[in-house]
Parts: sequence; C-alpha cells; structure tokens
Amino acid sequence: MTKALDKVHLDGELLPLAEARIPVLDRGFLFGDAVYEVIAVYEGVPFLAQRHLQRLARSLDAIACDNPFDAAQWSALLEQVLAANVEQLPDRAALYLQVTRGDNAQRSHVFPSATAPRVLVMALDSPAPAASAYEAGVEAVVLDDLRWHACHIKTTSLLGNVLAREQARAAGAAEALLQRGGLVTEGSTSNVLAWIDDTLVSPPDGPDILPGVTRDWVLEQADQAGVRCARRSIPVQSLAEADELWITSTTREVLPVTRLDGQPVGNGLPGPHWRAAIARYRASIATTTAAG
Ligand code: PMP
Repeated sequence: MTKALDKVHLDGELLPLAEARIPVLDRGFLFGDAVYEVIAVYEGVPFLAQRHLQRLARSLDAIACDNPFDAAQWSALLEQVLAANVEQLPDRAALYLQVTRGDNAQRSHVFPSATAPRVLVMALDSPAPAASAYEAGVEAVVLDDLRWHACHIKTTSLLGNVLAREQARAAGAAEALLQRGGLVTEGSTSNVLAWIDDTLVSPPDGPDILPGVTRDWVLEQADQAGVRCARRSIPVQSLAEADELWITSTTREVLPVTRLDGQPVGNGLPGPHWRAAIARYRASIATTTAAG
C-alpha cells in the first residue's frame, strides 16, 4: 500500500495531510484536468528525478498548462517535502507530484482565461514488492485497452487504468496487460517488455503508451550491456512464444511475469535475463544513493 506521509505541499503551503483541501471546482477534481508524476526515493534520495521532471514538463506542454516551476525549483520543492517528512520517511518511499489547471469558480469545459495551476506534492510510503514476486514471478491477464488515445500524457484521468487493474486483481493477477487491435500496449500501471528471439522487445513510443522512465532506463542499460533491444509492436499471440515477460514501473521496478492468462510464460520461472536486468537496476540505485 502507498500510504501518504503526514506533511504535504499544496499551493505554496506545507500542511498536515488532513488539512490539505482543494476547492470542489478544481478542474483536476471535476474533469481530471491534471497531470502527475511518481518518483522513487531510496534512503531519502530521489531516483531518476530529472527524467520524471522532464516528463512532467512534456505532459504539461501536451495539455497546454503552464509549468509553475523550472527544474531547479521543482527539485528544491521535492527536497522540502522530503525534509518535512524525514522522521517518518521509510527506506523505500516515493514522491507524488500533481499539477491541475486550477479553477476559476465555474464548471466549464473551455479553458478558463486565467487560472493558476494548483500544485500538490506528497511523500508516500512505497514498500518493495513481496519476496514471492521475485522468487516466483507474478501473474498477469490480458485485457482490452479501453483508454483514450493520448496515453503518452501522464494524466490523472486514470479510470481506464483503474478498471483494468481492478479486473486483474479480481482475477487474482498482479497486473493487466492491455491490448489494442491485437497488439500489446502496456500494463494498467506499468510498461511491458518481452524476451522474444533473443531480443528484448517493448512497444514503440506513441499515443498508446506512457514512455516509462523505468522502461527507458532498463532498455538503455541493457543496450549498454550488449543486449539486443528493439522497440517494436508485440502481437498478443507472440507472448505465448516469449522466453521471458517483464513489467516495469517506478514503484514495482522490474518484475517477471511468469503466468499469463493461467499459462506459464517460458518455463514458468523468473529468467536469467530478468536477473541480469534487476541486478543492473539495483546497481544504478546503489550508485545514486551513495552519491546522495
Ligand atoms: N504505464 C502506465 C499506464 C503507468 O501508470 C506507469 C506507472 N506510472 C508506467 C507505464 C511506468 O512508468 P514509470 O516507469 O515512469 O513509472
């Protein structure tokens, strides 16, 4: 579970969580007119924070909303929220950043002429996946991707994702892998990578998927380690021939999917390529935390 820690930043103020309130006319609340980021924090040190801030800037740009801060101001704000929660901060935490288009005292789809974006930053408890997820891998189900066609924007309009994730949970699975027109897009809260024909494959960037910070890092590191990597479409049927299947996200890092729709993936166990990938990922985290 991702419990919020007690001190949150809302609109320029540092407040106890219970006192942080937004007006009901906030466009994020009414329309999902908002974007967000989640940044992992290991031993108090944010991981890959600049990449997340760059993606936040791109999401804001895509919805024509002013970015209230530059990268240095964002970094200072993140440090302030971490410092305010330092006594409760677990070894594995996360920062949640949300920017809504604010409100102008009416409910209207049309952009208001003058609004101040509203900024929320929270620190979250972010426990590691269960040991069994690493030892045995996790189960996933394939579901139709019912979301809109601008999934590259990290918007808080997550109903399509929420419904898919809940359907997976009800089926006893850890993730829903989504498909559109017979091609794998991404997980409900993660990206998908598959090991097919000695190549680490992940779907191409575009409106069907969020360009995951974790996925890009995993692919870059694999590439540097001499792994053959490709960003190309993955037909759903080809997952049956995959030797390994992984999901990646900031909070779940790199997880092996060993059962899909009740069938084993590859030999049904976390594979050697996944072990190499998670070792590289852990090494990057260790380097970042050591540098403080
Ligand atoms: N796709 C979706 C739909 C997600 O919600 C997430 C997690 N935010 C990801 C992919 C993975 O992105 P990242 O590695 O940047 O956390």
